[in-house]
Amino acid sequence: MLVAGNWKMHKVPSEARVWLAELKRLLPPLDSEAAVLPAFPMLPVAKEVLSGTPIAYGAQDVSPHREGAYTGEVSARMLADLGCRYAIVGHSERRRYHGESDALVAEKAKRLLEEGITPILCVGEPLEVRERGEAVPYTLAQLLGSLKGVEPESPDRLVIAYEPVWAIGTGKNATPEDAEAMHQAIRQALAERYGEAFASRVRVLYGGSVNPKNFADLLSMPNVDGGLVGGASLELESFLALLRMA
Ligand code: PEP
Repeated sequence: MLVAGNWKMHKVPSEARVWLAELKRLLPPLDSEAAVLPAFPMLPVAKEVLSGTPIAYGAQDVSPHREGAYTGEVSARMLADLGCRYAIVGHSERRRYHGESDALVAEKAKRLLEEGITPILCVGEPLEVRERGEAVPYTLAQLLGSLKGVEPESPDRLVIAYEPVWAIGTGKNATPEDAEAMHQAIRQALAERYGEAFASRVRVLYGGSVNPKNFADLLSMPNVDGGLVGGASLELESFLALLRMA
């Protein structure tokens, strides 16, 4: 299991320092892995506070380029040097507000793997697609498009997050049964792409309005291997509650 907190564009480095120190102090014994994914300026703080603890940290995005004249971009090598274990690629907010295509997401995932960072690759359908009954084919097309040329050396080097767009930050979450059906379809597609043994060990997270009230039911599904959590990862108490459940 992996529980990863996506802070999005929240908190500042001084707040993060206090928050992460408290997380470290209050951390319960973990059966699963915890990760915090703050915005880029907080990664040096995460490195300072979390190094030597079981709490992983990582980024919310990465450049598709290795190095060069790309003003404003942050490379996978920079993230690796800061000790990032994970980075999100293809979050629906990047796809929607920055027009990121599957091909671009695949390039980003490749850059991360080159530097030993595990991509948390997000996929998921908008509401109108679900209402048309096309959620599964839409999400699988996005998945396979975003994995084109992406060859992780082992299953722990790839994490998929199923995040239905209509559930992100809306307070509406997929039912555990709907999530399970999609996760099963994702695992099947991964099996066709990478082989059964590989697919069975890739972590498939659910994301979309996860909170301490709905997480246990989602986690009880056999193909749900944890959560990618936005809003509920910002409050220490609720993040700790989620970690205790996983
Ligand atoms: C997310 O941003 O990845 C997310 C799932 O957000 P929230 O938990 O707030 O819906």
